[in-house]
Amino acid sequence: MSTAAVIVAAGRGSRMGGDVPKQYQMLGGQSVLARSIAAFAEHPDISSVAVVLHPDDLPLFKEHVQQADDLLIAQGGATRSASVKSGLACLPAGTNRVLIHDAARPLVPRALIDRVIAAIGTSGAAPALAIQDAIWRGDEDKVIAPQPRDGLYRAQTPQGFDLQKLRAAYAAGPVSAADDVEVALAHGLPVTIVDGDECNLKLTRPGDFELAQQWLEDKMDIRVGNGFDVHRFGPGDHVTLCGVEIAFDRGLQGHSDADVGMHAVTDAIYGALAEGDIGQHFPPSDPQWKGAASHIFLAHAMAMAQAKGYRVNHADCTLICEQPKIGPHAPAMRREMAGIMGLKEDQMSVKATTSERLGFTGRQEGIAAMATATLVRL
Ligand code: MG
Repeated sequence: MSTAAVIVAAGRGSRMGGDVPKQYQMLGGQSVLARSIAAFAEHPDISSVAVVLHPDDLPLFKEHVQQADDLLIAQGGATRSASVKSGLACLPAGTNRVLIHDAARPLVPRALIDRVIAAIGTSGAAPALAIQDAIWRGDEDKVIAPQPRDGLYRAQTPQGFDLQKLRAAYAAGPVSAADDVEVALAHGLPVTIVDGDECNLKLTRPGDFELAQQWLEDKMDIRVGNGFDVHRFGPGDHVTLCGVEIAFDRGLQGHSDADVGMHAVTDAIYGALAEGDIGQHFPPSDPQWKGAASHIFLAHAMAMAQAKGYRVNHADCTLICEQPKIGPHAPAMRREMAGIMGLKEDQMSVKATTSERLGFTGRQEGIAAMATATLVRL
């Protein structure tokens, strides 16, 4: 299943005020649009991101969105529906599902995106929050009548659909709708409600920026952990480093598969979580871990991070050895590690150095590895 995201950013945001449209205003050091794009571009299950821009905004976009190279750009239309149609039209062949998101919701949590993706099936899926407040109908400053709130929801985005079904719905009209759910329902495509999130607020008025800023400051928790590991050489015909087997005239000794790189990254994640180290979770005294493939340890650390509400945003591993030569294998190592961790390859770095023939790695008695992992809780 290939899932794409369309970020609708062609609006003028007239209620917000300011010199530039709200999606280009800054929130916590990044533009609103850059944050909205990153939420989807960094999601491991989303393969392409299209951004729908107002024709006048291209210079603003280039100025305020740094990671623009991998994005598809579509030109917005006179209405939201026309803009979405334009975004849908530019998605690559082979795309099965699409999430449509308003650029003005920059703080969309990853877990909410996960819920929408998981609920797309024969129906579409959209996040919403049940209304808790009493509801009135009013005229000017007078209450006319209370309104029943049963079954009323506040709709959010992203709204997710089978791409072909949504394209068919848009092809049939109407030309102007408040959101994609309205278009879907008008053409008999049912939509499942998934839990929305208060954090996924739509920036509409100036006060919303202050609220979002406060929320970012309160919630943002960035942690950096480090890991270091050493295994000595012994008899063997290969070494396993960052999940990749390399033919060599010796092997690495250890209780598990002695993957020194993967152990260092795993310990970096445990370190960021302040949750001890591999030895604590997988004691060498326990025979069930003898010869174990190290991806078990790494997957455990990742699951622990997720359970605590953190995501690993980046990891960097340096292997220290004279032999074998790491360079030719580094791309495969990045791929392997990123795959286990559910990261994109540009979030995983594997590099190597020698120690200029000094010390135990210089004497080729073993291989050392150091790693850093950055975890974020949003
Ligand atoms: Mg180790």
